[in-house]
Amino acid sequence: MPQNEDRKKVPKDFYFLKIVGEGSFSTVYLALEAESKKEYAIKVLKKRQIIRENKMEYVNREKKSLLKLGGSKYFVHLYATFQDSEHLYFVLSYARNGELLNHLIRHKSFCLEWVEFYAAELLLALEYMKSKHIIHRDLKPENILFDRNWHILVTDFGSSKIIGEDDTVQQPNDSNNCRRRKNSFVGTAQYVSPEVLHGEKPSYSADLWAFGCIIYQMIVGQTPFRAGSEYLIFQKITNLDYEFPEGFDETARDLVEKLIVIVPENRLGANDSTSYSSIREHSFFKNTNWDDLGPAPALSDGCDKDKDNFVIPNGLEPGLSDEILAQLHLNMLSFPSEPEVVMHEPPVRKKSEPKRRLTDLTQEEIEERLKLQKDDEYSSFVDGNLILKRGILEKKKGTFGFARKRMFLLTFGPHLYYVDPSTMTLKGEVPFSEDMKTEAKNFKVFYVHTPNRIYYLEDPTGYALEWCKAIDEVVTHYFPKKN
Ligand code: ATP
Repeated sequence: MPQNEDRKKVPKDFYFLKIVGEGSFSTVYLALEAESKKEYAIKVLKKRQIIRENKMEYVNREKKSLLKLGGSKYFVHLYATFQDSEHLYFVLSYARNGELLNHLIRHKSFCLEWVEFYAAELLLALEYMKSKHIIHRDLKPENILFDRNWHILVTDFGSSKIIGEDDTVQQPNDSNNCRRRKNSFVGTAQYVSPEVLHGEKPSYSADLWAFGCIIYQMIVGQTPFRAGSEYLIFQKITNLDYEFPEGFDETARDLVEKLIVIVPENRLGANDSTSYSSIREHSFFKNTNWDDLGPAPALSDGCDKDKDNFVIPNGLEPGLSDEILAQLHLNMLSFPSEPEVVMHEPPVRKKSEPKRRLTDLTQEEIEERLKLQKDDEYSSFVDGNLILKRGILEKKKGTFGFARKRMFLLTFGPHLYYVDPSTMTLKGEVPFSEDMKTEAKNFKVFYVHTPNRIYYLEDPTGYALEWCKAIDEVVTHYFPKKN
């Protein structure tokens, strides 16, 4: 996209192909520029909501920081901004391969080679941020996206701070807000450094703490500070209460222990001048060539649907009219947006296999499984009930609402709990009753109808039918007559 354009872009300069995600006050679309056919992510923000929720500063900071970081390949690039009467539009580089968090969930954890590579890319990104006087302040695997070649693109600079520029201004995310967030935390608690938690002046070192947490998470598959509530997570952070599982690589452990340090000035790299030379020199990076990190590891499952160039569907008009918007939302429901996930056929039962229902368990089997479940990281959420089925589902608020990743736990009891896997907090429960009904819309999307509410759920791995069947079996088990 030409930088020195003589006119501002308008939505009609783009074909909006699909919704790739929704934030608290934004929707992100995959779009093709009509003229160049180049792909972009266009983040559309609702002006009215931004004003109502007093998020102007958040939006300005994101724009300012992204513009400052435009010279590095490790950040989502902001190509253009424009607006109409209702919306603000940010034209960004499209991160084809989604969020680091999704890939971590899919792979469970990364091998050390991958961790070394992505920690190195992230460190170069941190160095660049520092050279531009920017503290990210919300670094986490959800905010690290992957481009088409699996290199990182750091994003979400709404909480960032530009040192010097807005020091004198009381920012909504500054100390007062941090204190407020301690009580009513909206983001992810696990990556927050103790000094930010206690409302002290943030420094670049806050990002180094998060960097340590992310390295730990890539190796273990879980964040270092985990607990049943955000309050308990904060307590653990303050007390540096975390453990390394057996077998955790010693060199990686040494690095993590030098980053996850209570006193910000004592974190490795905190006293380096421009580049984080003391981190670069750590033996964890002994195989890293800092001048050329080389090709990124292929995290893909080899089935990327989006690996080719996108084409404009026949009949699609450019722009974002109400009609197109409605169609894109409909498409999102029936053709969900995770390109990296394989679309499985539902598993076919072999003829010889006995038909055993999920709930067909003897008392001995139940006790045996309950014993095993004790060590399960999700056991604290299920009140001692046996987990019959579990999985990460996207939970949508209404058919057009935001999608949130939740770990769903179907248990005897009967219960269907859902937990936020990034904060490890129980978010709620789908109430069981004899009137509960499931409805599969396709291999991924299904609804759970309850007397007071419909739950719109999506299984990105394509096992929606299995979920419906499992829930139906539990309903039948407890309410046999009606079902
Ligand atoms: P919130 O605003 O509530 O913090 P968020 O930061 O996830 O949420 P957005 O930045 O609007 O909100 O992103 C919404 C979704 O779109 C996310 O799932 C994100 O992964 C995806 N997304 C954002 N930017 C891009 C991009 N450049 N390319 C591809 N996907 C993107």
